[in-house]
Amino acid sequence: MKIYADNAATTKMSQTAVEAMLPYLTECFGNPSSLYEAGQKAKEALETAREEIARIIHASPREIVFTSGGSEADNQAILSAAALGEKKGKRHIVSTAIEHHAVLHTLKKLEKQGFDVTLLPVHEDGIVRPEELKAALREDTCLVTVMYANNEIGTLQPIREIGELCKEKGIPFHTDAVQAVGHLSMDVERDGVTLLSASAHKFHGPKGVGFLYARKGFRLSNLIEGGAQERGKRAGTENVAGIVAMAAALKEAEANREATALRLTALRDRLIEGLAAIPHSALNGDAQKRLPGNVNFCFEGIEGESLLLLLDDRGICASSGSACTSGSLDPSHVLLAIGRKHDVAHGSLRLTLGEDATEEEVDYIIQTVTETVDRLRSFSPVWRDLCSGKSPFIL
Ligand SMILES: *Cc1c(COP(=O)(O)O)cnc(C)c1O
Repeated sequence: MKIYADNAATTKMSQTAVEAMLPYLTECFGNPSSLYEAGQKAKEALETAREEIARIIHASPREIVFTSGGSEADNQAILSAAALGEKKGKRHIVSTAIEHHAVLHTLKKLEKQGFDVTLLPVHEDGIVRPEELKAALREDTCLVTVMYANNEIGTLQPIREIGELCKEKGIPFHTDAVQAVGHLSMDVERDGVTLLSASAHKFHGPKGVGFLYARKGFRLSNLIEGGAQERGKRAGTENVAGIVAMAAALKEAEANREATALRLTALRDRLIEGLAAIPHSALNGDAQKRLPGNVNFCFEGIEGESLLLLLDDRGICASSGSACTSGSLDPSHVLLAIGRKHDVAHGSLRLTLGEDATEEEVDYIIQTVTETVDRLRSFSPVWRDLCSGKSPFIL
Protein backbone atom coordinates (compact mmCIF):
# COMPACT_ATOMS: atom_id res chain seq x y z
CA MET A 1 0.00 0.00 0.00
CA LYS A 2 1.16 3.57 -0.77
CA ILE A 3 -0.28 6.21 1.53
CA TYR A 4 0.55 9.90 1.37
CA ALA A 5 -0.14 11.20 4.88
CA ASP A 6 1.86 14.42 4.77
CA ASN A 7 -0.71 16.86 3.44
CA ALA A 8 0.37 19.60 5.85
CA ALA A 9 3.74 19.64 4.05
CA THR A 10 2.16 19.86 0.63
CA THR A 11 -0.74 18.41 -1.32
CA LYS A 12 -1.09 16.77 -4.70
CA MET A 13 -2.54 19.11 -7.31
CA SER A 14 -6.16 18.37 -8.08
CA GLN A 15 -7.02 17.35 -11.65
CA THR A 16 -9.32 20.38 -11.87
CA ALA A 17 -6.45 22.70 -10.97
CA VAL A 18 -4.09 21.06 -13.47
CA GLU A 19 -6.66 21.40 -16.24
CA ALA A 20 -7.40 25.01 -15.31
CA MET A 21 -3.75 25.98 -15.57
CA LEU A 22 -2.84 24.23 -18.84
CA PRO A 23 -4.27 26.81 -21.28
CA TYR A 24 -2.25 29.54 -19.55
CA LEU A 25 0.96 27.58 -20.07
CA THR A 26 0.19 26.98 -23.72
CA GLU A 27 -2.06 29.03 -26.06
CA CYS A 28 -2.87 31.75 -23.59
CA PHE A 29 0.68 32.62 -22.54
CA GLY A 30 0.43 36.40 -22.88
CA ASN A 31 1.75 38.88 -20.33
CA PRO A 32 -1.22 40.40 -18.46
CA SER A 33 0.40 43.83 -18.78
CA SER A 34 0.39 43.65 -22.60
CA LEU A 35 -2.32 45.49 -24.47
CA TYR A 36 -2.96 43.03 -27.31
CA GLU A 37 -5.56 40.32 -27.05
CA ALA A 38 -3.39 37.48 -25.67
CA GLY A 39 -2.26 39.75 -22.85
CA GLN A 40 -5.75 40.95 -22.11
CA LYS A 41 -7.05 37.38 -21.96
CA ALA A 42 -4.43 36.59 -19.35
CA LYS A 43 -5.37 39.75 -17.48
CA GLU A 44 -9.03 38.72 -17.50
CA ALA A 45 -8.16 35.28 -16.13
CA LEU A 46 -6.13 36.92 -13.40
CA GLU A 47 -9.00 39.19 -12.38
CA THR A 48 -11.53 36.36 -12.46
CA ALA A 49 -9.25 34.35 -10.17
CA ARG A 50 -9.00 37.34 -7.85
CA GLU A 51 -12.79 37.68 -7.72
CA GLU A 52 -13.29 33.98 -7.02
CA ILE A 53 -10.74 33.92 -4.22
CA ALA A 54 -12.10 37.14 -2.70
CA ARG A 55 -15.64 35.77 -2.71
CA ILE A 56 -14.61 32.60 -0.84
CA ILE A 57 -12.92 34.49 1.99
CA HIS A 58 -15.60 37.25 2.01
CA ALA A 59 -13.25 39.97 0.85
CA SER A 60 -13.37 42.34 -2.10
CA PRO A 61 -11.09 41.63 -5.09
CA ARG A 62 -9.08 44.81 -4.52
CA GLU A 63 -8.02 43.42 -1.15
CA ILE A 64 -6.20 40.42 -2.68
CA VAL A 65 -2.52 40.56 -3.67
CA PHE A 66 -0.99 37.52 -5.37
CA THR A 67 2.34 36.34 -3.97
CA SER A 68 4.79 33.49 -4.47
CA GLY A 69 3.24 31.62 -1.54
CA GLY A 70 2.61 31.63 2.18
CA SER A 71 6.10 32.70 3.24
CA GLU A 72 6.08 35.79 1.06
CA ALA A 73 2.58 36.73 2.19
CA ASP A 74 3.62 36.38 5.86
CA ASN A 75 6.74 38.49 5.30
CA GLN A 76 4.87 41.21 3.44
CA ALA A 77 2.05 41.39 5.97
CA ILE A 78 4.33 41.63 8.99
CA LEU A 79 6.88 44.00 7.47
CA SER A 80 4.10 46.28 6.20
CA ALA A 81 2.50 46.51 9.64
CA ALA A 82 5.91 47.13 11.20
CA ALA A 83 6.64 49.93 8.74
CA LEU A 84 3.29 51.58 9.52
CA GLY A 85 3.89 51.14 13.25
CA GLU A 86 7.33 52.65 13.04
CA LYS A 87 5.93 55.80 11.45
CA LYS A 88 3.72 56.25 14.52
CA GLY A 89 6.51 55.37 16.96
CA LYS A 90 4.87 52.00 17.73
CA ARG A 91 7.35 49.17 17.85
CA HIS A 92 5.65 46.38 19.76
CA ILE A 93 4.35 43.17 18.14
CA VAL A 94 2.38 40.34 19.74
CA SER A 95 2.53 36.82 18.37
CA THR A 96 2.72 33.23 19.62
CA ALA A 97 5.44 30.69 20.28
CA ILE A 98 3.97 28.21 17.79
CA GLU A 99 4.00 30.28 14.60
CA HIS A 100 5.52 29.06 11.34
CA HIS A 101 9.15 30.06 10.74
CA ALA A 102 8.02 32.46 8.01
CA VAL A 103 6.48 34.49 10.84
CA LEU A 104 8.98 33.78 13.63
CA HIS A 105 12.06 34.57 11.53
CA THR A 106 10.50 37.77 10.22
CA LEU A 107 9.81 38.81 13.81
CA LYS A 108 13.43 37.98 14.74
CA LYS A 109 14.60 40.27 11.97
CA LEU A 110 12.39 43.06 13.32
CA GLU A 111 13.71 42.51 16.84
CA LYS A 112 17.20 43.18 15.52
CA GLN A 113 15.84 46.43 14.11
CA GLY A 114 14.63 47.49 17.53
CA PHE A 115 11.11 46.09 17.64
CA ASP A 116 9.87 44.53 20.84
CA VAL A 117 8.20 41.16 20.23
CA THR A 118 6.01 39.36 22.76
CA LEU A 119 5.62 35.67 21.93
CA LEU A 120 2.66 34.37 23.86
CA PRO A 121 2.88 30.85 25.24
CA VAL A 122 0.25 28.30 24.37
CA HIS A 123 -1.28 25.95 26.88
CA GLU A 124 -0.77 22.20 26.91
CA ASP A 125 -3.61 21.94 24.39
CA GLY A 126 -1.65 24.00 21.86
CA ILE A 127 -4.07 26.93 21.98
CA VAL A 128 -3.36 30.56 22.88
CA ARG A 129 -5.72 32.24 25.37
CA PRO A 130 -7.40 35.49 24.27
CA GLU A 131 -7.28 36.90 27.80
CA GLU A 132 -3.50 36.45 27.86
CA LEU A 133 -3.29 38.12 24.49
CA LYS A 134 -5.43 40.98 25.74
CA ALA A 135 -3.10 41.45 28.70
CA ALA A 136 -0.09 41.61 26.37
CA LEU A 137 -1.46 44.47 24.26
CA ARG A 138 0.18 47.86 24.82
CA GLU A 139 -0.23 51.44 23.69
CA ASP A 140 2.63 50.90 21.26
CA THR A 141 1.44 47.56 19.84
CA CYS A 142 1.45 47.90 16.06
CA LEU A 143 0.58 44.32 15.10
CA VAL A 144 -0.90 41.11 16.41
CA THR A 145 -0.04 38.04 14.35
CA VAL A 146 -1.56 34.68 15.29
CA MET A 147 -1.85 31.68 12.99
CA TYR A 148 -5.29 30.29 12.14
CA ALA A 149 -4.32 26.65 12.47
CA ASN A 150 -0.97 25.20 13.44
CA ASN A 151 0.92 23.30 10.76
CA GLU A 152 2.41 20.71 13.13
CA ILE A 153 -0.26 19.86 15.67
CA GLY A 154 -3.25 21.24 13.77
CA THR A 155 -4.66 23.23 16.68
CA LEU A 156 -7.19 25.95 15.83
CA GLN A 157 -6.61 29.32 17.44
CA PRO A 158 -9.42 31.60 18.75
CA ILE A 159 -9.15 33.92 15.75
CA ARG A 160 -12.57 35.52 16.07
CA GLU A 161 -12.00 36.51 19.71
CA ILE A 162 -8.56 37.85 18.91
CA GLY A 163 -9.98 39.75 15.95
CA GLU A 164 -12.52 41.39 18.21
CA LEU A 165 -9.88 42.42 20.75
CA CYS A 166 -7.70 43.94 18.03
CA LYS A 167 -10.64 45.75 16.47
CA GLU A 168 -11.53 47.33 19.82
CA LYS A 169 -8.00 48.65 20.19
CA GLY A 170 -7.53 49.53 16.52
CA ILE A 171 -4.53 47.22 16.18
CA PRO A 172 -3.88 45.51 12.82
CA PHE A 173 -4.37 41.75 13.06
CA HIS A 174 -2.59 39.33 10.74
CA THR A 175 -3.32 35.62 10.59
CA ASP A 176 -1.19 33.04 8.82
CA ALA A 177 -4.10 31.00 7.48
CA VAL A 178 -1.98 28.78 5.23
CA GLN A 179 -3.22 25.59 6.91
CA ALA A 180 -6.80 26.81 7.14
CA VAL A 181 -7.71 28.20 3.71
CA GLY A 182 -9.40 25.50 1.65
CA HIS A 183 -10.01 23.42 4.77
CA LEU A 184 -12.07 25.63 7.10
CA SER A 185 -14.71 28.27 6.52
CA MET A 186 -12.93 31.58 5.94
CA ASP A 187 -14.53 34.95 6.52
CA VAL A 188 -12.34 37.98 7.05
CA GLU A 189 -15.34 40.02 8.23
CA ARG A 190 -16.53 37.46 10.79
CA ASP A 191 -12.98 37.01 12.06
CA GLY A 192 -12.06 40.70 12.05
CA VAL A 193 -8.69 40.17 10.42
CA THR A 194 -6.73 42.94 8.74
CA LEU A 195 -4.26 40.69 6.93
CA LEU A 196 -4.42 37.01 5.98
CA SER A 197 -1.87 34.76 4.27
CA ALA A 198 -2.62 31.70 2.15
CA SER A 199 -0.72 29.28 -0.06
CA ALA A 200 -2.07 27.26 -3.01
CA HIS A 201 -0.01 24.10 -2.52
CA LYS A 202 -1.66 23.45 0.85
CA PHE A 203 -5.08 23.09 -0.81
CA HIS A 204 -4.28 21.08 -3.95
CA GLY A 205 -3.07 24.02 -6.02
CA PRO A 206 0.44 24.45 -7.40
CA LYS A 207 3.57 25.32 -5.40
CA GLY A 208 5.06 28.79 -5.61
CA VAL A 209 1.81 30.76 -5.55
CA GLY A 210 -0.32 32.21 -2.80
CA PHE A 211 -2.10 35.37 -1.79
CA LEU A 212 -2.22 38.04 0.85
CA TYR A 213 -5.51 39.60 1.88
CA ALA A 214 -5.07 43.16 3.12
CA ARG A 215 -8.13 45.01 4.36
CA LYS A 216 -9.13 48.15 2.46
CA GLY A 217 -7.38 51.13 3.99
CA PHE A 218 -4.38 49.15 5.20
CA ARG A 219 -1.29 50.35 3.34
CA LEU A 220 0.88 47.45 2.24
CA SER A 221 4.52 48.08 1.52
CA ASN A 222 6.17 45.98 -1.15
CA LEU A 223 8.93 43.46 -0.65
CA ILE A 224 9.86 43.47 -4.33
CA GLU A 225 10.54 46.61 -6.31
CA GLY A 226 9.87 46.77 -10.03
CA GLY A 227 6.84 47.12 -12.26
CA ALA A 228 3.37 48.23 -11.26
CA GLN A 229 1.80 44.76 -11.09
CA GLU A 230 -0.67 44.07 -8.28
CA ARG A 231 -1.43 47.79 -8.04
CA GLY A 232 2.18 48.49 -7.17
CA LYS A 233 2.20 46.17 -4.18
CA ARG A 234 4.03 43.24 -5.73
CA ALA A 235 6.28 43.76 -8.72
CA GLY A 236 7.01 41.00 -11.22
CA THR A 237 5.06 39.43 -14.06
CA GLU A 238 2.19 37.53 -12.52
CA ASN A 239 2.25 33.72 -12.31
CA VAL A 240 -0.93 33.60 -14.39
CA ALA A 241 -1.21 29.81 -14.77
CA GLY A 242 -0.44 29.28 -11.08
CA ILE A 243 -2.94 31.91 -9.98
CA VAL A 244 -5.69 30.48 -12.21
CA ALA A 245 -4.97 26.99 -10.84
CA MET A 246 -4.99 28.32 -7.28
CA ALA A 247 -8.46 29.80 -7.77
CA ALA A 248 -9.72 26.57 -9.36
CA ALA A 249 -8.30 24.50 -6.47
CA LEU A 250 -9.84 26.80 -3.88
CA LYS A 251 -13.23 26.79 -5.58
CA GLU A 252 -13.19 23.01 -5.65
CA ALA A 253 -12.04 22.75 -2.04
CA GLU A 254 -14.73 25.18 -0.98
CA ALA A 255 -17.49 23.28 -2.80
CA ASN A 256 -16.54 20.05 -0.99
CA ARG A 257 -15.35 21.61 2.24
CA GLU A 258 -18.09 20.62 4.66
CA ALA A 259 -18.45 17.05 3.43
CA THR A 260 -14.67 16.60 3.40
CA ALA A 261 -14.28 17.98 6.91
CA LEU A 262 -16.94 15.60 8.26
CA ARG A 263 -15.36 12.58 6.61
CA LEU A 264 -11.80 13.52 7.57
CA THR A 265 -12.74 14.28 11.16
CA ALA A 266 -14.17 10.77 11.53
CA LEU A 267 -11.02 9.25 10.02
CA ARG A 268 -8.80 11.46 12.15
CA ASP A 269 -10.58 10.38 15.33
CA ARG A 270 -10.31 6.73 14.31
CA LEU A 271 -6.57 7.19 13.77
CA ILE A 272 -6.16 8.99 17.10
CA GLU A 273 -8.02 6.24 18.92
CA GLY A 274 -5.91 3.56 17.27
CA LEU A 275 -2.57 5.20 18.01
CA ALA A 276 -3.55 6.13 21.57
CA ALA A 277 -3.64 2.39 22.29
CA ILE A 278 0.15 2.28 21.91
CA PRO A 279 1.60 2.31 25.45
CA HIS A 280 3.46 5.45 26.55
CA SER A 281 2.14 7.56 23.70
CA ALA A 282 0.38 10.92 23.75
CA LEU A 283 -1.60 13.00 21.29
CA ASN A 284 -0.11 16.45 20.75
CA GLY A 285 -2.62 19.29 20.77
CA ASP A 286 -6.28 19.43 21.64
CA ALA A 287 -8.23 16.35 20.50
CA GLN A 288 -11.16 18.34 19.05
CA LYS A 289 -10.01 21.86 18.28
CA ARG A 290 -7.71 20.72 15.50
CA LEU A 291 -7.69 20.50 11.70
CA PRO A 292 -9.88 17.71 10.30
CA GLY A 293 -6.96 15.68 8.91
CA ASN A 294 -4.26 16.31 11.53
CA VAL A 295 -2.90 13.67 13.89
CA ASN A 296 0.32 14.25 15.85
CA PHE A 297 1.67 11.86 18.46
CA CYS A 298 4.70 11.43 20.68
CA PHE A 299 5.96 7.92 21.40
CA GLU A 300 8.35 7.58 24.27
CA GLY A 301 11.68 5.80 23.80
CA ILE A 302 12.07 6.16 20.03
CA GLU A 303 13.47 8.58 17.45
CA GLY A 304 11.08 10.21 14.99
CA GLU A 305 13.53 9.87 12.08
CA SER A 306 13.88 6.11 12.47
CA LEU A 307 10.12 5.80 12.62
CA LEU A 308 9.74 7.85 9.42
CA LEU A 309 12.28 5.74 7.54
CA LEU A 310 10.65 2.47 8.53
CA LEU A 311 7.21 3.82 7.71
CA ASP A 312 8.49 4.92 4.30
CA ASP A 313 9.67 1.32 3.72
CA ARG A 314 6.11 0.23 4.32
CA GLY A 315 4.62 2.80 1.99
CA ILE A 316 3.59 5.54 4.42
CA CYS A 317 4.74 9.14 3.89
CA ALA A 318 4.61 11.08 7.16
CA SER A 319 6.58 13.72 9.00
CA SER A 320 8.16 14.33 12.38
CA GLY A 321 8.88 17.30 14.58
CA SER A 322 12.16 15.78 15.65
CA ALA A 323 15.54 17.24 14.95
CA CYS A 324 17.10 15.83 11.79
CA THR A 325 14.11 16.29 9.52
CA SER A 326 14.02 19.97 10.32
CA GLY A 327 17.78 20.31 9.87
CA SER A 328 18.47 21.52 13.39
CA LEU A 329 19.44 19.90 16.67
CA ASP A 330 16.47 21.18 18.61
CA PRO A 331 13.17 19.39 18.30
CA SER A 332 10.09 21.25 17.09
CA HIS A 333 9.48 24.60 18.80
CA VAL A 334 5.78 23.75 18.72
CA LEU A 335 6.17 20.52 20.70
CA LEU A 336 8.42 22.30 23.21
CA ALA A 337 5.83 25.09 23.48
CA ILE A 338 3.11 22.64 24.53
CA GLY A 339 5.44 21.38 27.25
CA ARG A 340 6.89 18.22 25.72
CA LYS A 341 10.33 17.36 27.09
CA HIS A 342 13.15 17.20 24.53
CA ASP A 343 13.42 13.39 24.66
CA VAL A 344 9.73 12.93 24.12
CA ALA A 345 9.54 15.59 21.40
CA HIS A 346 12.20 13.66 19.44
CA GLY A 347 9.81 10.74 19.19
CA SER A 348 7.03 12.57 17.37
CA LEU A 349 5.01 11.63 14.32
CA ARG A 350 2.72 13.86 12.24
CA LEU A 351 0.16 12.24 9.97
CA THR A 352 -1.97 14.59 7.88
CA LEU A 353 -4.71 12.87 5.92
CA GLY A 354 -5.77 13.89 2.43
CA GLU A 355 -9.30 14.24 1.07
CA ASP A 356 -9.14 10.79 -0.51
CA ALA A 357 -8.07 8.93 2.65
CA THR A 358 -10.03 5.77 3.44
CA GLU A 359 -10.85 3.75 6.53
CA GLU A 360 -8.78 0.90 5.16
CA GLU A 361 -5.75 3.18 4.88
CA VAL A 362 -6.23 4.51 8.38
CA ASP A 363 -6.35 0.95 9.74
CA TYR A 364 -3.20 0.08 7.81
CA ILE A 365 -1.47 3.16 9.31
CA ILE A 366 -2.54 2.18 12.84
CA GLN A 367 -1.29 -1.37 12.43
CA THR A 368 1.98 -0.34 10.78
CA VAL A 369 2.81 2.42 13.27
CA THR A 370 2.00 0.11 16.19
CA GLU A 371 4.30 -2.63 14.86
CA THR A 372 7.06 -0.19 13.95
CA VAL A 373 7.05 1.58 17.32
CA ASP A 374 7.23 -1.85 18.96
CA ARG A 375 10.12 -2.89 16.78
CA LEU A 376 12.09 0.31 17.36
CA ARG A 377 11.56 0.05 21.08
CA SER A 378 12.79 -3.55 21.07
CA PHE A 379 16.30 -2.35 20.21
CA SER A 380 16.25 1.09 21.87
CA PRO A 381 18.61 1.53 24.84
CA VAL A 382 16.46 4.45 25.99
CA TRP A 383 13.42 2.18 26.08
CA ARG A 384 15.37 -0.47 27.99
CA ASP A 385 16.31 2.09 30.64
CA LEU A 386 12.69 3.20 30.90
CA CYS A 387 11.45 -0.35 31.31
CA SER A 388 14.07 -1.29 33.88
CA GLY A 389 13.17 1.79 35.91
CA LYS A 390 16.62 3.31 35.39
CA SER A 391 14.92 6.43 34.05
CA PRO A 392 11.32 7.38 34.70
CA PHE A 393 8.60 7.29 32.07
CA ILE A 394 7.28 10.72 31.16
CA LEU A 395 4.28 9.61 29.12
C1 LIG B 1 3.40 25.91 4.45
C2 LIG B 1 3.21 27.01 5.40
C3 LIG B 1 3.77 28.28 5.17
C4 LIG B 1 4.66 28.55 4.00
O1 LIG B 1 3.97 28.55 2.78
P1 LIG B 1 4.80 28.42 1.42
O2 LIG B 1 3.79 28.63 0.35
O3 LIG B 1 5.37 27.05 1.39
O4 LIG B 1 5.83 29.48 1.44
C5 LIG B 1 3.51 29.27 6.08
N1 LIG B 1 2.74 29.05 7.17
C6 LIG B 1 2.18 27.86 7.41
C7 LIG B 1 1.32 27.70 8.62
C8 LIG B 1 2.41 26.79 6.55
O5 LIG B 1 1.86 25.61 6.82
